Amino acid sequence: MARRLTQLAKIPVTELAGVGPKKAEGLTELDIETVLDLVMHYPRRYIDRTNEALIKDMVVGEEAMVLGIVKRVEARRTRQRRTMVQVDVTDGSGYLRCTFFNQPWREKQLKPGTQAVFYGKLDVYQGRKQMTNPVVDLVGDRTGRIVPVYPQSEKAQLTTWEIGGWVEEALRRAGPLDDPVPGWVLDRFDLVDRDAAIRGIHVPESSDEARVARRRLVFDELLRIQLVLVRRKRELERTSVGIAHDISGTLVARFHEQLPFPLTGAQRRAIAEIERDLAAPVPMHRLLQGDVGAGKTLVAVSALLVAVQGGHQGALMAPTEVLAEQHHLGVKALLEGFTLASEGDLFGERPLRVELLTNRTTASQRTALMQRLAAGEVDILIGTHALIQEKVGFKSLGVAVIDEQHRFGVEQRAALRSKGESVPDVLVMTATPIPRTAAMTVYGDLDVSVLDELPPGRTPITTVWARGPLEEESAWARVRDEVAAGHQAYVVAPLIEESEKLEVRSAQETYDEFRAGELSGLRLALLHGRIPAKDKEQVMDAFRRGDVDVLVATTVIEVGVDVPNATVMVILDADRFGIAQLHQLRGRVGRGAATSWCYLLGGGNTPDSEERLSALERTTDGFELAEVDLDLRGEGTIMGARQKGRNDLRLASLRRDKEWVAKARDVAFELVDGGLDAHAALVEELDVLLPEGDDEEATEFLFKS
Ligand code: ADP
Ligand code: MG
Repeated sequence: MARRLTQLAKIPVTELAGVGPKKAEGLTELDIETVLDLVMHYPRRYIDRTNEALIKDMVVGEEAMVLGIVKRVEARRTRQRRTMVQVDVTDGSGYLRCTFFNQPWREKQLKPGTQAVFYGKLDVYQGRKQMTNPVVDLVGDRTGRIVPVYPQSEKAQLTTWEIGGWVEEALRRAGPLDDPVPGWVLDRFDLVDRDAAIRGIHVPESSDEARVARRRLVFDELLRIQLVLVRRKRELERTSVGIAHDISGTLVARFHEQLPFPLTGAQRRAIAEIERDLAAPVPMHRLLQGDVGAGKTLVAVSALLVAVQGGHQGALMAPTEVLAEQHHLGVKALLEGFTLASEGDLFGERPLRVELLTNRTTASQRTALMQRLAAGEVDILIGTHALIQEKVGFKSLGVAVIDEQHRFGVEQRAALRSKGESVPDVLVMTATPIPRTAAMTVYGDLDVSVLDELPPGRTPITTVWARGPLEEESAWARVRDEVAAGHQAYVVAPLIEESEKLEVRSAQETYDEFRAGELSGLRLALLHGRIPAKDKEQVMDAFRRGDVDVLVATTVIEVGVDVPNATVMVILDADRFGIAQLHQLRGRVGRGAATSWCYLLGGGNTPDSEERLSALERTTDGFELAEVDLDLRGEGTIMGARQKGRNDLRLASLRRDKEWVAKARDVAFELVDGGLDAHAALVEELDVLLPEGDDEEATEFLFKS
């Protein structure tokens, strides 16, 4: 009988010949405790011996791979006091010198007589062929054309061929491996079976075999994740009763008709998707993604009005009081003059009511509000966390919209969902775009709508990464010019991660410096986290009124500031911020008709920050930036806490294997909807490899940054 992978989880690695207590310790360093862990410890890459070059044939300026024996090693210090290890290598056809800087341990690693593969670019130094800091693989005396190279850690002190040897032993003793994925799935995507894949990834005969094996295992990883997510999604749908909203009313249509502009195609699409969800008896659980300014508010209000026109209530929850207040004013203005049929009323109708509830609502206002809310006299309630407190009782909460999801925890979302008798439909809005594949993976239990089209007539923001003092000077000149032209500016003070106290001090210093220097004569104001809410409001009001020219602020301006007259933003120490955050900050300008600028100061000290800042310069498309972010941070970080388990994405890359995410998701739906019970081995694998319950943090991660 073929052996299940999960059975290998019960066998400790010490069962293998050659794994004694000492080696087992090393393996533990690599998180390998069972034979399953070992078998799922995949090669990082392969050395294809057919690509090996002879030293005599190598061409200067080209990359090559050489297998050679170390003849001589010498460690020295350079004049700059860096260590330099020189290793002379021969393969019989000639001599090659490999020079390593700042890698003192190479002296011990590459003792004379060691056989290793050196991979790098050939140059010539003092008439001698040499490579500088080549990649080195100790291959020992392993034979075969394709040699796997395993991830190692210095601490583990295991060689790649030791690991390879144990893997081979494990596979030999395990015998044929069972395949839990049904054959029709493999046929559809032309995938090899599990046994061939596991063997092919560890001991391939050709690089083609390794590639085919990888493809199958990538699919397996993505399928397992999707199965867990889709199963959870279906479970949620099955166990909660929602409201089948009546979408035949005219309120939403009237709302759209009186707008001074047509909806964008993306808005219409998102609203249609939401209405379809709302009409269904299953509670909606949808994520609305859209860049800053994409017009999410109209979509949200449309959803709330569906609830209202059917006699239910809507709630809109914002992350801060400022934002809640802004939403309240905005939504009230949008719904000005709308009426609802009302039997008890003399005229047969009453005005549609939008109310605000925050921590600033006084106790008596609150009592009155609660009464009217319970009586169904408030149609839309807007607020902060205060909305989900125990004592807030709606008559019938139909739709809840949560704005800027990254400030809300999962529990808070859950609390909102438990208001009212049946589960309200939930729409989560975020202005932090996530690449589609990442969203499918991290938010696989939500449906996703995307606003990927900005309303017409926006003046794009010109972003300049000020790489040196000259460009910095032109940034300040721009601030002065814009202020002279009657516009306003933001200066974002450096982000200090260590402490708020330091941040406040640095913001104050920045402020004093500019007031005396570059921005002297302009009306400046300072805003930071330690300023009491009341004073903060005063500063903001002054800025909104135009009584302040330049607002120097820490990132408190990130959300909820809408001053269309502000046309320049200068971000200091820009490389301290992540891509998403810079993009959000930048969205505070370019909100009016005038051309706007964003200057990024500092940075570029690392390739990473260079890429981040030039990406922001190149594009204002949040989704494109999200892709860059994913590239730079890697899916390891995206998957965050989930990676802690010994499972998940080992081979699969949310970038490289994009197409497979969607394929795996489709199959997961087919399998779950067809009854997962019929696939016991697969379910068992999910239980072993992806135990439920620890991935909520990961969901939050993306939105923090
Ligand atoms: P978001 O919440 O996605 O950042 P908003 O909903 O605040 O964006 O919309 C930004 C601005 O664009 C608002 O002033 C809004 O009135 C305007 N707007 C929204 N949709 C459209 C549209 N279809 N055409 C023109 N302007 C629009
Ligand atoms: Mg519904």
